[in-house]
Amino acid sequence: MAATLLWGKPVAEEIYAELRARLQRLALRGVIPGLAVVRVGEAPASSAYTRQEEGAAQRLGVRVHTHALPSDASEQEVLDLIARLNEAPEVHGILVHQPLPPHISAVRVSEALDPRKDVEGLHPWHMGRLLLGEPYLVPCTAHAVWQLLVRSGYPPEGKHVVVCGRSNTVGKPLAALLLQKKPGANATVTVCHTGTLDLARFTRQADILVVAVGAPRAVTADMVREGAVVVDVGVNYVADPTMRTGFRLMGDTDFEALREKVEAITPVPGGVGPVTVAMLLWNVVAACEAQLSLPREP
Ligand code: NAP
Repeated sequence: MAATLLWGKPVAEEIYAELRARLQRLALRGVIPGLAVVRVGEAPASSAYTRQEEGAAQRLGVRVHTHALPSDASEQEVLDLIARLNEAPEVHGILVHQPLPPHISAVRVSEALDPRKDVEGLHPWHMGRLLLGEPYLVPCTAHAVWQLLVRSGYPPEGKHVVVCGRSNTVGKPLAALLLQKKPGANATVTVCHTGTLDLARFTRQADILVVAVGAPRAVTADMVREGAVVVDVGVNYVADPTMRTGFRLMGDTDFEALREKVEAITPVPGGVGPVTVAMLLWNVVAACEAQLSLPREP
């Protein structure tokens, strides 16, 4: 039987409905959360993503302040802008789009952010809290994978979750989230990477398999067990002359083959992506509430 498709849009809509209620409470205090988006140069993939985020923020009622710097802006100019945004009371969250031009250090920029406004949750302070089991603002894609699983009826609790990929934005924070000793998490987690010998030996053991490696068809049907739940985080642009654009978007798995074998799988596009945007806005609202010393939502 063909797998259940885990679409991100209904999950994102559920999250937006919860956020709208929180925004109404903020509005009663005369506060509209503000998100500053910093772009340096024009990376095409990043500007398409920015438009999605900015559109979703505006539809929700979050005020977006866009700062577009030219690609030859110096690192000091970017750091000066971040220092101003750190102090700006109307800005509750700051998002700096990656990739930055090579002459600007992503690490120095990330560390310059006031952690309370780092809505990507990548500052060492957030990563440390997450590892300690006391997350504050969580990296959006990792949080999206967890929320998608829980809200689609596949909570990872008690399951063996195999995560392919150990990036700081997806694999590592996801493993830390799922390891938390709390309801909805509490999974047994295995993390694989390019140093893993015989990847299939591990992926076949997964009750829930999360693939975030950035390579099309890295996971094929023979690498998963029947009845597994698969979350494909990958976003790959693959040349396809039959498409008007000349390329096709696909994930990291052989989706068509896997959907005949597994219990449930996320499509690409339309799976994790929409929930990632929702989790960014979740962080903006949570950051705003925290800056006003309002009680935190669970
Ligand atoms: P990344 O920083 O390039 O990390 C990729 C990870 O996968 C690394 O840990 C790498 O191992 C591992 N890896 C690569 N090839 C592998 C293989 N053949 N077998 C086992 N492990 C392998 O990528 P990322 O930022 O985590 O992103 C992963 C994918 O998710 C990309 O396609 C990206 O576009 C997509 N993404 C989607 C969203 C969304 O919202 N849908 C958000 C973010 C990213 P090493 O550490 O050993 O190098």
